Amino acid sequence: MIDIADGAETQEACLDVLREVFGHEAFRGPQAEIVRHVSEGGDALVLMPTGGGKSMCYQVPAIVRERAGRGVAVVVSPLIALMHDQVGALTEAGVSAAYLNSSLSLDEAQRIEQQLRRGELTLLYVAPERLLTPRCLAMLDSLHEQQRLSLFAIDEAHCVSQWGHDFRPEYRELAVLPERFAGVPRVALTATADALTRADIVERLQLQSARTFVSSFDRPNIRYVLVEKKDASAQLQRFIRDEHSDANGHDAGIVYCQSRRRVEEVAALLQSAGFKALPDHAGLDAALRQANQDRFLREDGVIMVATIAFGMGIDKPDVRFVAHLDLPKNIEGYYQETGRAGRDGEPANAWMAYGLQDVVNQRRMIDDSPAGDEFKQVLRGKLDALLALAETSECRRVRLLKYFGEDSEACGNCDNCLNPPELFDATEPARKLLSCIYRVQQASGHSYGAGHIMDILRGKRTDKVAQHGHDTLSTFGIGADWGETQWRALLRQLIAVEAVRVDDAPYNTLNLADGARAILKGDAEVRLRIQAERAPARSRTSRSRANAEVDGPPMSLAERECFDALKAWRAQVAREHNLPAYVIFHDATLRAIARRQPASLSDLDGIDGIGQKKRAAYGDAVVQVVSAFI
Ligand code: ADP
Ligand code: ZN
Repeated sequence: MIDIADGAETQEACLDVLREVFGHEAFRGPQAEIVRHVSEGGDALVLMPTGGGKSMCYQVPAIVRERAGRGVAVVVSPLIALMHDQVGALTEAGVSAAYLNSSLSLDEAQRIEQQLRRGELTLLYVAPERLLTPRCLAMLDSLHEQQRLSLFAIDEAHCVSQWGHDFRPEYRELAVLPERFAGVPRVALTATADALTRADIVERLQLQSARTFVSSFDRPNIRYVLVEKKDASAQLQRFIRDEHSDANGHDAGIVYCQSRRRVEEVAALLQSAGFKALPDHAGLDAALRQANQDRFLREDGVIMVATIAFGMGIDKPDVRFVAHLDLPKNIEGYYQETGRAGRDGEPANAWMAYGLQDVVNQRRMIDDSPAGDEFKQVLRGKLDALLALAETSECRRVRLLKYFGEDSEACGNCDNCLNPPELFDATEPARKLLSCIYRVQQASGHSYGAGHIMDILRGKRTDKVAQHGHDTLSTFGIGADWGETQWRALLRQLIAVEAVRVDDAPYNTLNLADGARAILKGDAEVRLRIQAERAPARSRTSRSRANAEVDGPPMSLAERECFDALKAWRAQVAREHNLPAYVIFHDATLRAIARRQPASLSDLDGIDGIGQKKRAAYGDAVVQVVSAFI
């Protein structure tokens, strides 16, 4: 459905908007084709990783179409908390935008409805439940009749799918859009890539005839590191100290924990260790949560300790690390959560500590859930895939991307690439463990949990062992030469290759699975990695080297001082406008200014992130700040 002058002309109009409004020189990757297609009135499904630049994919077409007299673009977003900052960022760039959600007073909402009717808005952000109210639908009906609805953008489109990590039932009702607003182009966007979710989005949102744009899901600036959990809190503190702290303080980061209680514990612990850490979980007072989130967005170097509910709406580009103290539910979750690090493209760490207990806990949560058997089976399969990623001794990124259907080469930026684990042949111990599970079951007619099996293997005569007579089994004590940690590592690996299954809540007993046979028969080898004590440390030097690749040579002392002065100026402007600092200018933009040392407005030309409006609004002030350093 082409309804605006096509081809080269549209392309040019899009590029004009990108340069003039947003101050970016060129489109990235598939953006150019997406914005042309949507500007011309086509439907699109955009699959692009976090930080890939999804907003441009609907903001540019919205502006292009508005300039062509096609009215307002409606952006459906589940992230009420974020709308204020998104609209703020557009306003800073000189675009007329507003939002409608439950945080507005009746008066405010009415004022925006008025603006909408008068055709004064280019973009309107709205929560799905708000959009679906009769009042809002009626308003859009009348705009539609006057052909003043330019497009619908459905952000975070995976919310429509129960396979996504953030299912929102009200998203399903967005299926009314194509019927009710026939002819209005729709673009759905998500950073979730797996095939199941993708198919669900197409079906649920009636996007069968939309063009699909798939970007690579690689996030090359994120380093993946997974370590064996021992004393998780101590390991976490060491990680933050070693990798993310210097004399001036520490980086901004997110620490994910599974339970609210754990969030509180870890936040308190980090605080008492001198870190600027804040808790976030759904059980906290709403005002406190808001205050904590605001501090995370607006202050430098805050660590948010949170349950996974946190972060979906967090656009903060300079999160330097994401740490997991508990295993996520599946690879999609892991990818999504770690993806919140390094949106700005600069180096970031995704660090996770995990252990056997995590696997057992996750499995129990699935078993105990009220879902149907088929559904549980899918969930178990997804958990197993994550476990295989955690246990692999090959490149993490290759595995991760493979899961999303992408082939790639070893990355050189994950723990396994940087510090290839030493492997040894563990087929014999694996056989011992498998036989032990088998014998115990045969002798007693039912299966047992990991702790008991390991006691038998290691020849520990506990009360339970004696009581069941398991010390008389032929496998009793055959694994005495190994410690419990080693056995647990082997067991995780056997679970990962589906030789062992953890069954039957609530006891989480171990059973042989399909993969066991080949190992017992000697047809398959098991190779185990020798657990490195510590993750490869990313020294400060390697970090600045990585930075240099993104940003050119390291800054001189004078440039650094100028940069700090610009940051201080920015902080003040941000406070006055009640917006996060990065909405005014990104670090990278300030750094480029500090390097360039502009003496006049025209010296700002070509610096990424300075559009016309910002140049007019802040150019003089920036030159003024810099003048003290020339
Ligand atoms: P996503 O929503 O996909 O996570 P964003 O839309 O927030 O990504 O964009 C990520 C960052 O990339 C933002 O800081 C944005 O300013 C920047 N960006 C997007 N497109 C371009 C471009 N064509 N040139 C330069 N920077 C861009
Ligand atoms: Zn790698």
